[in-house]
Amino acid sequence: VFISLEGIDGSGKSTQARLLADALRAQGRDVVLTREPGGAPGAEAIRRLLVEGDPDRWSPQTEILLFTAARRDHLERTIAPALARGAVVITDRFADSTRVYQGATRGDLRATVDALHDLMIGQEPDATFIIDMDPAAALSRGLARQSGEDRFEELGLAFQHTLRDGFLRLAAANPTRCHVINGARNLEAIAADLAARVAPLLQ
Ligand code: C5P
Repeated sequence: VFISLEGIDGSGKSTQARLLADALRAQGRDVVLTREPGGAPGAEAIRRLLVEGDPDRWSPQTEILLFTAARRDHLERTIAPALARGAVVITDRFADSTRVYQGATRGDLRATVDALHDLMIGQEPDATFIIDMDPAAALSRGLARQSGEDRFEELGLAFQHTLRDGFLRLAAANPTRCHVINGARNLEAIAADLAARVAPLLQ
């Protein structure tokens, strides 16, 4: 079973991915917890190329190619082998992040994003959980853990609103796969909600 968690920066999706993995492992399940960009040695090397350095280092087209290259490596080396042996794969971000982030910043390149996905990835999670948060609250949480080394984290509140809208639109367009989780609750309440929605997928 292949599960992705999505959301804006600081939405708490990484924490929720970890709590979900812990809960499923406690049930004795084989769980692979992974993330994007990254999730395999080669893809992590590409992540460093993406998040570090000069914001204008890459053209929009090259940036989309790098995200797609990282995802292809992640799929080949981590996700596909884990699914083949029957593990539950939980990924912190997948293709929806590229659709929303690059769709928001490079709207004219959305068709390119989709074409590359069809050509090189061609796989969707069985279920996607979007941790939905007010951008002001999420931004303050995101900034609180900001390392200063991630060039994508300097984009501001208006951008986070655009991203939130993008995720909610994507959820509305894919109601079978995507589930919106109210992220404005305490960690335990969100984790319990998520676990309850995941349980039927594992039967
Ligand atoms: O989720 P995480 O913080 O690890 O993501 C790393 C950075 O890459 C974030 O600042 C996120 O906003 C950005 N990102 C992006 N486009 C994607 C995926 C992540 O701009 N497709």
